[in-house]
Amino acid sequence: MATVDDTAVREREQARAEQPPAGGDIAVENPATGEVIAHVPDLGPEQVAELARAARAAQPAWEALGFEERGRYLLRMQKWITDHAERIISTIVSETGKTYEDAQLAEIMYGAAAFGFWAKEAPGFLADEHVKSANPLVKGKKLIVRYRPVGVVGVIGPWNFPLTNSFGDCIPALAAGNAVILKPSEVTPLTSLLMAEGLRACGLPEGIFQVATGDGTTGTALVDEVDFIMFTGSTKTGRKVMERAARTLTPVGLELGGKDPMIVLADADVERAANAAAYYSMNNGGQVCISIERVYVEEPLYDDFVARVTEKVRALRQGKPTGPGTVDVGAMIYPPQVDIVDAHVQDAVAKGARVLTGGKRADGPGTFYEPTVLVDVDHTMECMTEETFGPTLPIMKVADAEEAIRLANDSPYGLAASVWTRDAARGEDVARRVEAGAVCVNDAQINYVALELPMGGWKASGLGSRHGAGGIRKYCDQQAILITRFAPKKDLHMFPNSKLKSGLIGRTLRLLYGRGKRR
Ligand code: NAD
Repeated sequence: MATVDDTAVREREQARAEQPPAGGDIAVENPATGEVIAHVPDLGPEQVAELARAARAAQPAWEALGFEERGRYLLRMQKWITDHAERIISTIVSETGKTYEDAQLAEIMYGAAAFGFWAKEAPGFLADEHVKSANPLVKGKKLIVRYRPVGVVGVIGPWNFPLTNSFGDCIPALAAGNAVILKPSEVTPLTSLLMAEGLRACGLPEGIFQVATGDGTTGTALVDEVDFIMFTGSTKTGRKVMERAARTLTPVGLELGGKDPMIVLADADVERAANAAAYYSMNNGGQVCISIERVYVEEPLYDDFVARVTEKVRALRQGKPTGPGTVDVGAMIYPPQVDIVDAHVQDAVAKGARVLTGGKRADGPGTFYEPTVLVDVDHTMECMTEETFGPTLPIMKVADAEEAIRLANDSPYGLAASVWTRDAARGEDVARRVEAGAVCVNDAQINYVALELPMGGWKASGLGSRHGAGGIRKYCDQQAILITRFAPKKDLHMFPNSKLKSGLIGRTLRLLYGRGKRR
């Protein structure tokens, strides 16, 4: 008779056989210069399966080490990242064309903090929970909720944050006791390889963290091999990953695209709101899943806000980063993305929008798009409804907060949002009415570094979340354990059935649950 394990192996083998073989290597480009800076192998399904075998062999010993010992490796890596910050920044900048500051603040700072957070919090988040039940049938029994690592976790990442959004999700998976295989974006694989080097230098046992470089085919192969797949990327690919994972009933976490609204109420501190709009729409070249992608401003503040934002965005320095403080906005990390950005701007202009600054590709040799402010926009335009993922900021005038909320929620996405007002209580009320996984009042994006807060999308922006207790429990199987220690030879409900016992159970039912009012 075939066991469940046999069936899973057969399904995996069949899935592998259906895939085209990969081979050769992938050229990695510096998008700020257009130069090829490295080549990495393009792993095929067999090679991914080989990595998975190594991971499965190594994982039990890693799990057996326990939290404290695993935490020691994580803290060593926290120190390694800090000691090698300049080298890591230089690697990130070279494969993304982002600024020194974007790599320093949003990647190194995040990674270093995350190692400390998960080393400290994993034991508490995954500790056995002793629970009590209200049901009289289990009175006196010991009830435990236990978390056990799933085994091998696959992480698939995008190109916009090679450390934070690819490698970052590996840290809690490792802390939980899993082996991890990371498939970075084919556009930005070098940072992940550097992280693997760091973990080796910190003495991490062989097979516990491996990098599978390659493209979507490699990603598909990884989905087939692992016990949990953590995917960050576009909504379109996220759907494919979930469909693929359904074949082997592999659970998934999906962190997908967004179209984050900023709601500026008439009583907002306009200077802070304008500074934040310029920064949180243009940092990382606007290539942040939680970038401010569209703004709704109440009429009385609109002209002042638009004037201030335009002045600030016009003053931004763009170009190839050559060290700290040299530019404010870097390159388009994935050169074809510039076509989408330009198409959204052209579509808006064709439908009546005005460009106040920017509005076109910037001069090469690398791939850049000028920081752009658009006004006279509405929801017939792609720039207000589709994810642009570039340095653009469309601003729309609204009559009141009600219209702003209605338009903010008029989107298939629900990743993050922000509300700006001097009245914090009103801001919170508005925040609670916005359909998004994370909403800031008088801030944006910064919630991401509060690792205690869950970060996950609603609607087409994702499934599950990272950070907080849920960000590590997802990498575990939950097990319920019930222990009966002192008990009679036979419980009342055991055979044989009898009228007397049924009557007694019926009276107990009425006594326990039948005394409430019907209305
Ligand atoms: P993408 O979906 O094109 O690719 C993401 C990853 O999936 C890459 O590693 C790619 O090789 C791999 N892949 C492609 N096809 C696959 C398949 N069929 N099976 C398995 N893997 C496959 O995304 P991208 O263009 O690299 O990244 C930009 C997108 O990521 C944006 O939509 C952005 O909003 C999103 N993003 C979301 C978050 C978040 O936390 N919600 C964070 C960063 C980026």
